[in-house]
Amino acid sequence: MYDIIIVGAGPAGLTAALYALRANKKVLILEAKAYGGQIIKANVVKNYPAIKEISGTDYAEVLYNQVMDLGATFKYETVLKVNPDKTVVTQDNTYKARAVIIATGAENRKLNLVGEQDYVGKGVSYCATCDGNFFKNQTCAVVGGGNSALEDALYLADICKHVYLIHRRDTFRGENKLVEELKKKENVELIFNAEVTGLKGEDVLKRIEVKKHDGQTLDLDVAALFIAVGQEPKNEIFANVCSLNDNGYIEAKDEVYTNTPGIYVAGDARVKVLRQLTTAVSDGSLAATIAIKEMYD
Ligand code: NAP
Repeated sequence: MYDIIIVGAGPAGLTAALYALRANKKVLILEAKAYGGQIIKANVVKNYPAIKEISGTDYAEVLYNQVMDLGATFKYETVLKVNPDKTVVTQDNTYKARAVIIATGAENRKLNLVGEQDYVGKGVSYCATCDGNFFKNQTCAVVGGGNSALEDALYLADICKHVYLIHRRDTFRGENKLVEELKKKENVELIFNAEVTGLKGEDVLKRIEVKKHDGQTLDLDVAALFIAVGQEPKNEIFANVCSLNDNGYIEAKDEVYTNTPGIYVAGDARVKVLRQLTTAVSDGSLAATIAIKEMYD
């Protein structure tokens, strides 16, 4: 029996653990993949208050170690179900807690192109900072118009010979500051009002087909395509204890309450205006604090 089971070890989940452990609670963290969540894909974080800059992996490691030093139990297990009685079922075990915090974040959105998944590891990637170095001095493309795509293009511009940044509109969703930095890069070519429609190459990716909205089709020789078109949640398994909005995000009352008592949500998995490190850690601290408070009510 645990006091709190936290599902997901991104910044929200680990911060929830930090707060619960500091309140002397017995905490189990369940993670399916790697601790750190989406932030490990950030080459550099420059908008976290009081930290001028830190790499995403360093941030995740410091936070993880901070939590483990306080005595968390951490298991790499995939959660299959959370029940209203606060039992959590994984592929290996069933655990029971007084409270559960769902902090599973969101996953990279796919373009759903023919062959997209077959080319993963062979030229298609969802993480420029993880895979960019494989394509040193080669030509790459990034698709997307948010902060992730802008940051990926900036990162790749310093590694690759040439970088195409392909966006489906003519204005970026991401921050102006990043756009201005990108415009200074001589090896970055912006392609607006265009969509990637095809992937070509035998064993590995060699070319992408890009359709412009004016009807023109481009065949671009690239060694890699970095897909940065946002995230989507994977919350279907929680639908028995939470209500989900049309996009699959968990509807939260007062930020962290789901519609099942004792089950809370924190971070990118929930409906929210801003999905950032700052808001994820805010959610984590709040969810743990409320979960603990309600144990005594
Ligand atoms: P995002 O902000 O949701 O942007 C996704 C981009 O992909 C949009 O430009 C969107 O186009 C485009 N897109 C979506 N579906 C597409 C499709 N099927 N085909 C082509 N393009 C498609 O996602 P994100 O950039 O991953 O960022 C997610 C969150 O993390 C945001 O809140 C962002 O601010 C935050 N973030 C922050 C930082 C930072 O602060 N340093 C870094 C990275 C991410 P439209 O614009 O036309 O919709």
